Amino acid sequence: MKPAVKIQLMENLKFLKLAAAIANLETCLRQARESGLDPSEFLLNITDLEVMNRMENGRKRRIRQAKFPLLKPVETFDFEAAKDFDLQLIKHLLTGQYIKEARNVIFLGKSGTGKTHLATALGMEACRLGARTLFTTACTLANELIEARDEKILSRVLKRYAGYDLLVLDELGYVPFSKEAAELLFQVLAERHERKSMIITTNMGFGDWTQIFGEPTLTAALLDRVTHKAHIISCNWESYRFKETLKKGKQK
Ligand code: ADP
Ligand code: MG
Repeated sequence: MKPAVKIQLMENLKFLKLAAAIANLETCLRQARESGLDPSEFLLNITDLEVMNRMENGRKRRIRQAKFPLLKPVETFDFEAAKDFDLQLIKHLLTGQYIKEARNVIFLGKSGTGKTHLATALGMEACRLGARTLFTTACTLANELIEARDEKILSRVLKRYAGYDLLVLDELGYVPFSKEAAELLFQVLAERHERKSMIITTNMGFGDWTQIFGEPTLTAALLDRVTHKAHIISCNWESYRFKETLKKGKQK
């Protein structure tokens, strides 16, 4: 390649912000020369690299913005430890189809069974698939909504919560809500109903949700929406945390 052409080409790539193409130009050109690729194949190879790089950057950015408390991808979950787990269902959920269909996923079960881990794993996969995701706890969300209302920015905050493709709502049920908090949460959940997906983890069976939300009519209306067409996964197996503790105890 003539030096002047190369300089201009580099300038163009920079102007177009094609970072991966810039980084791989020499290698791709050499490959094309050595393997006798035609120009279209060369162009395909270099644009492939750019596309992969953009997708990877997007995945990383979405994972950062989702604010997962810990990064726990699905490969780190031991399905052997989760007795009777429906592996077909988790495979299906990992495809992200439920997000396209605006369905919810609800993990029900006692503490330590891996609900947060599974919710995080699905959330991280959603980020890879391009879904704008946010992880929060029910308590944090309730407090944020109350603050937003006090500061008169509630509609803005509600709009933001309506916008995520996937909202992971962890630990519903550990703390009961005030009447005000329950009503505000209802607004977020009702707004997303049939439009956007949620993953909810809870230690409370549906029958006990009145204890979380107080008001029976509101609870019924909320349950109706949240569970409608939802994938409900009961985590009835032993606590993983507890098992690990027992194991450590025995080792000592
Ligand atoms: P929960 O949210 O149901 O209380 P967590 O997801 O916080 O439970 O799990 C408790 C701890 O045990 C976490 O560190 C989690 O990564 C781990 N854990 C739970 N189940 C499994 C599993 N099947 N394989 C690997 N780690 C697990
Ligand atoms: Mg948890």
